[in-house]
Amino acid sequence: MHPPVADLSSVRILVSNDDGIGAPGIKVLEKVARSLSSDVWVVAPETEQSAAGHSLTIRRPLRVRRVSRRRFAVDGTPTDAVLLGINHVLKDNKPALVLSGVNRGGNLGEDVTYSGTVAAAMEATILGVPAIAFSQYYGPDCPVRWSTAEHWAPEIVRRVTRAGWGRNVLMNVNFPDVAADRVTGIEITRQGKRKIGDELSERFDPRGDPYIWIGAQRAEDRGVRGTDLEAVSRGAVSVTPLCVDLTDRGTMDALAECFR
Ligand code: MN
Repeated sequence: MHPPVADLSSVRILVSNDDGIGAPGIKVLEKVARSLSSDVWVVAPETEQSAAGHSLTIRRPLRVRRVSRRRFAVDGTPTDAVLLGINHVLKDNKPALVLSGVNRGGNLGEDVTYSGTVAAAMEATILGVPAIAFSQYYGPDCPVRWSTAEHWAPEIVRRVTRAGWGRNVLMNVNFPDVAADRVTGIEITRQGKRKIGDELSERFDPRGDPYIWIGAQRAEDRGVRGTDLEAVSRGAVSVTPLCVDLTDRGTMDALAECFR
């Protein structure tokens, strides 16, 4: 278990994301972290890395650029940023908590398998540091409601760190696309279904060669009670514990039978 933390005020917090160090969401999360602790550091990707998943850069060198005091950019993926943040930038006094996000857009259902925001939290978890991923869901034709994330995130960080959680587990938090005072509550959910990639737009470049854009269209299963997607669609903040160990224990016994 990650031990419960009663007082966050001097806990070293590392903030990262996948939208890049200049994204509006990381400014929101840095502000949230600073409202909780006086020891906040940012190590984040230099450029946007959405849907980078848990990709690690091993075929080229990485550069760490000091942006300002306690703020560093890495020219790699979210995983690179968290790895270098913990094992290089802060190696002499490692963070006790990693916060990732706030992502521009929800990380719901199968999104978590593509998400760089979730992967940053996953990397921290694998390195032994408790981590929480934050995403602000938003609909079409509407500005992102960062104020909802900013309002609700501190309470969630305080509550989950006060409880502590398993060493194999990270927290995936999604804020709904409603004003902060319209949020219906905080709900503990499981991963729903929301596969991206149903819509492919094939076009032609100026030289006549075809190319394909993967569209944002998703086959969403919003109606299934108890899921992240359903809770957020209804106006609740969704908190889903995700396990880094992807083993399906239910299938193990059946499979062992097959190979007897
Ligand atoms: Mn992103």
